Amino acid sequence: MDKIIFLKPAFSHTVWGGTRIRTDFGYDEPGEDIGECWGISAHPAGDSVITNGMFSGKTLSQMYADCPEFFGNCPQEEFPLLTKIIDARDNLSIQVHPDDEYAAIHENGASGKTECWYIIDCPQNAELIVGHNAKSKDELKSMISEGKWEKLIRRVPVKKGDFIQIDAGTVHAITAGCLILETQQNSNITYRLYDYDRKPLRELHLSQSIDTIRVPARDAADCIFDTTGKKEFVYSNDFYEVGIMRISGSAKLPEIRYFMNLSIVAGEGLVNGNRVHKGDHIIIAGGSSVILNGNMEIVRSTFNA
Ligand code: ZN
Repeated sequence: MDKIIFLKPAFSHTVWGGTRIRTDFGYDEPGEDIGECWGISAHPAGDSVITNGMFSGKTLSQMYADCPEFFGNCPQEEFPLLTKIIDARDNLSIQVHPDDEYAAIHENGASGKTECWYIIDCPQNAELIVGHNAKSKDELKSMISEGKWEKLIRRVPVKKGDFIQIDAGTVHAITAGCLILETQQNSNITYRLYDYDRKPLRELHLSQSIDTIRVPARDAADCIFDTTGKKEFVYSNDFYEVGIMRISGSAKLPEIRYFMNLSIVAGEGLVNGNRVHKGDHIIIAGGSSVILNGNMEIVRSTFNA
């Protein structure tokens, strides 16, 4: 059986989405409001379709269920990770995600959502919202009930090439002009804290937000990392290991335990002899090693059990 699968993404159209997922990445998706490209996903809201090999035409969730050996017999019941490209023409709402424990109790056994961002592009002097300034739960509650949003939210300067870790419980928002690759737990549970009072009004989830926001927030310096100039940057936590790789020439990665997700964000080359280029999303089978050739920037992720 093939040790590599190529995936056809699913797209979502949103009030804040734009056109760069088509114009920068070349995906054949119409519309002026393309917010997200779910490149590697087995989530029912956007299950990727496999385009090569014996599972061609099947979804990733089907293959994960039918062919566990490809995924190194990963112990998770559902495929555990999700990779997206996000194009924010406008600001996204300010939100927070629950952890596994809270989601299991309050969201019918769903997974929580820890995520991370790699900034493919952003405006000069861009700022993202990462964390908040409340020192206690009481202060958090009163700032929310009094609508002191600008005091509450923490804006942090970012630039192209930064990597940002967003633990569950972190207040966060992507801002206008940012093009981001997100790697996350396979979950779609979001509690909206504030939406800039935009019309049409979208539902807020204040009590769940207050329950799940971590107080005090982690220092910004502990969750924002400059990857520029590095051949490889690696971040690892309880859920995933994510690597930003800049290949010029060739590189070999150690043998994979379960599976490895690869998204090509720039350039082109070969992955184990298969031609790839910007915009390709692929998965390599557990037990394989990976040989990369070419000139390309890749975001890889593996599951940490
Ligand atoms: Zn999020």
